[in-house]
Amino acid sequence: MPGSVGGPRILLRRLREVMAEPESAQKRLDKIVVLIASNMVAEVCSVYLVNRQSELELSATEGLKPTAVHNTRLKIGEGLVGDIAEHARPLNLADAQSHPGFAYRPETGEEIYKSLMGVPILRSGKVVGVLAVQNRTKRHYTEEEVEALQTVAMVLAEVVAAAELVDPQAYATPDLARQVPHYIQATAFCEGIALGHAVLHEPRVHVTKLIAEDTEVELKRLEQSVYALRGSIDDMLETADLSHAGEHREVLQAYRMFANDRGWLKRMLEAVRTGLTAEAAVERVQNDTRARLQRAADPYIRDRLHDFDDLANRLLRQLTGVTLASLSANLPNDAIVIARNMGPAELLDYDKTRLRGLVLEEGAANAHVSIVARAFGIATVGRAKDILDHVEPGDAIIVDGDTGEVYLRPSQEVIASYSEKARFRARKQEQYKAIRDEPAITCDGQRVSLYVNAGLQVDLPHLEESGAEGIGLFRTELQFMIASTLPSLRDQIELYSAVLDVAGDSPVVFRTLDIGGDKMLPYMNFAALKEENPALGWRAIRISLDRPGLLRHQIRALLTAAAGRSLRVMFPMVAEVAEFQRARALVDKELARLDQFGKEKPAHLEIGTMLEVPSLAWQLDTLLPLVDFVSVGSNDLLQFLFASDRGNARVAGRYDFLSPAVLSFLKHIVVKCSRHETPLTLCGEMSGKPLEAMALLGLGFRRISMSPAAVGPVKMMVRSLDTGKLEAFMDGLLDLPDRSLRERLAGFAEAHGVTV
Ligand code: PEP
Ligand code: MG
Repeated sequence: MPGSVGGPRILLRRLREVMAEPESAQKRLDKIVVLIASNMVAEVCSVYLVNRQSELELSATEGLKPTAVHNTRLKIGEGLVGDIAEHARPLNLADAQSHPGFAYRPETGEEIYKSLMGVPILRSGKVVGVLAVQNRTKRHYTEEEVEALQTVAMVLAEVVAAAELVDPQAYATPDLARQVPHYIQATAFCEGIALGHAVLHEPRVHVTKLIAEDTEVELKRLEQSVYALRGSIDDMLETADLSHAGEHREVLQAYRMFANDRGWLKRMLEAVRTGLTAEAAVERVQNDTRARLQRAADPYIRDRLHDFDDLANRLLRQLTGVTLASLSANLPNDAIVIARNMGPAELLDYDKTRLRGLVLEEGAANAHVSIVARAFGIATVGRAKDILDHVEPGDAIIVDGDTGEVYLRPSQEVIASYSEKARFRARKQEQYKAIRDEPAITCDGQRVSLYVNAGLQVDLPHLEESGAEGIGLFRTELQFMIASTLPSLRDQIELYSAVLDVAGDSPVVFRTLDIGGDKMLPYMNFAALKEENPALGWRAIRISLDRPGLLRHQIRALLTAAAGRSLRVMFPMVAEVAEFQRARALVDKELARLDQFGKEKPAHLEIGTMLEVPSLAWQLDTLLPLVDFVSVGSNDLLQFLFASDRGNARVAGRYDFLSPAVLSFLKHIVVKCSRHETPLTLCGEMSGKPLEAMALLGLGFRRISMSPAAVGPVKMMVRSLDTGKLEAFMDGLLDLPDRSLRERLAGFAEAHGVTV
């Protein structure tokens, strides 16, 4: 049985020499097929490349009739060569002619060749051609030979791409996909228009050096990098150095499983032994994996392809030493960051003065990363399908956070129209500014209090700029999330004092630490808990009550910062009255401590609770006499009401805030609070959207807290609304069987000239 002469390593070395010769692309290809045929001891070696008509065109051959070159063409799927291209996988046939897929082409003179071994020529996972060898005898090509041919095909892919032998117009290779304008309808997460340049949160590595100089060195590099990669994934999972949504944890767990797969490492090591560099071996194996997973019938398996791609990319970064930190140092002035997903802490790491937009392939509007984006006024969209397959770093990009549209490499017309849109928005902002100092009073004289949500020092100027009446939700955990160690008492006092200084006479509601779930602290070992459902796990008030030292410390800081002033404090995730009482008792202890040390207390103190766990709504008659105010956290409330994870792109948008169920639930709270005369606010993302805010007013809410950018549009809505008419319209509406009342409410707004 004939075998290959000298093995793939020698062949690769020869190929490298041919590639270095100053020849035309066609001549180079002609030489390459001769080389391959002789090295593989095959009588025929042919290269088929995808042409402008998306056919496989015989582009070079050793052994078939030369006149067939550029004349023989096969459709994708036609014949054995077409079959290889269609399925992006090798064929190894001792008796090719008896294969049902065989398509006889007399012009090639191939009838005398019995056996065939062919492999796809893949570039970035897409088929750009087919490389095949044939023999007269019924030859059984070995697995090693198939692998060797795949390795050669990979090098060939680079030759073909470099010489532009594959017409870029003909085949949508990912590279082409990354050259032409591309439009994606994503989901709007944070309003705003951003024109800028793409920055990949996790950049891809392009492998340019394919052929190894020293195989032993490459084997070592590969092994070391895989070990380092495994270690880094374990670290991420185990030291909780991640602030991702639950969904992301699953992804990391998948990474860990794949990274520890012995077969994966073995296949890559084998690829290195054929003469490739470690990087090229990673890519070679990834090409195979991609082809295999793309063929999988099970959509779950196909989805894992993304994880595998990410993992291979991480390994390539490990090999090449490209780090994320080195990239954020070079952020352009108009950066639009593109990521599969990220946690709030990762977004906080970026220099906000250079960040204009954020595009997530996954994500959810109420996930904390979106909330942080909103706090910074960064135009954000999510669920931007496959954007990472289409974007190149540095690409011009437009993000429309109002409509969810993303334009990659936009045409001049799109740029012009968006520049106009940005100007229009600026004019709108002027209108909002003009009513900044006007009261938020409805047409029928109802006064509405609009507050802003905040959490960082950078948010503070927004209070004045927005014209809001105060801060309805100060998320104290953000300070903890951006710090590398637990903020000291002094750090906390400093921040809270600064907030109160800026607010002056305007009220500020501080929410005590709301950590856990997707809000991880890098220096606290949450992951040791390995919770299946972190959103339903040990978080917020549960941590505070179990570790009262943390909460007491924070309360001490708040009381100290507010000495002689007004202080409003509320607790997150309270699920039962008893939890509120226990938390409140800690405040009393701290007050007693102040007395003991003769320190000044706040002149005025209000203690309230968030209502974001549905159970609490069924204890309102007991709770309300004990609290000074209630603030509804619609983000969490909704996820618990509908049992639908706010951070999980697949389900986060499944149910509408404007559904009869949500509105009825909220109505119940409004009625109870009004009966007990307890001040009620809603501080979830819901209140920042004019139509949703309108519905809240229709239910009887008169205080709402939102992101600063939302205050202008919501105030416009308030000033154009007649609540009496809306209440009449909403009477009976909540009893309808509709999934959502959105359209009906929008219809009301339109009919009555309400600006939503
Ligand atoms: C909420 O859940 O609605 C809320 C305001 O709190 P957070 O979004 O910080 O969980
Ligand atoms: Mg919440």
